[in-house]
Amino acid sequence: MGKIEISEDMDQIRKKIKHTLEKRRYEHTIGVSYTAAAMAMRYDLNVEQARLAGLLHDCAKYMTDAKIKEVCVEHHIEINETEQKNAFLLHAKLGAYMAEHEYGVEDPDILSAIRWHTTGHPDMTPLEKIIFVADYIEPNRQQAPHLKAIRHLAFIDLDEALRVILKDTLDYLNSIHGEIDGMTEETYLYYMKEEGK
Ligand code: FE
Ligand code: FE
Repeated sequence: MGKIEISEDMDQIRKKIKHTLEKRRYEHTIGVSYTAAAMAMRYDLNVEQARLAGLLHDCAKYMTDAKIKEVCVEHHIEINETEQKNAFLLHAKLGAYMAEHEYGVEDPDILSAIRWHTTGHPDMTPLEKIIFVADYIEPNRQQAPHLKAIRHLAFIDLDEALRVILKDTLDYLNSIHGEIDGMTEETYLYYMKEEGK
């Protein structure tokens, strides 16, 4: 599949995802897909691209920690120290791999949006930002602090929404003494610096 205009492909992918993921994860996926589509409308991006990236972003999130590591090793996907300890982080990397090799998506914008949806990275593309934010605010999410404000902000100022999410994520991980992926921190610092410009 090259550029995606073909909604038939999208429907095939949706069915396959539905079959693979558990119900709650599938509902989340659909939520991210439509939230990302709405954000693409707001920010003048390709709506179908956003929809598909949303649909596939968690496509690898059905394996146990042991299994996901095993599959990464099998496909020569590098596992860093943080990922070694927190295997769930690997679903982004493996998801991008699976989107390409199992779902036939060639679009590099979509693949990178999947790849970076958990940690972000400095200087993200618009689609990467949208998937990152949509993942956090989609309608099935209920727990996060400032959710109402972030949902509002997501359609006003994308970078500011990104900053608040990164900050809240780091605060939360610190509060529970959770493992912080260095990239999340790097991304946050980058966007704080950007704000000062
Ligand atoms: Fe995810
Ligand atoms: Fe997700």
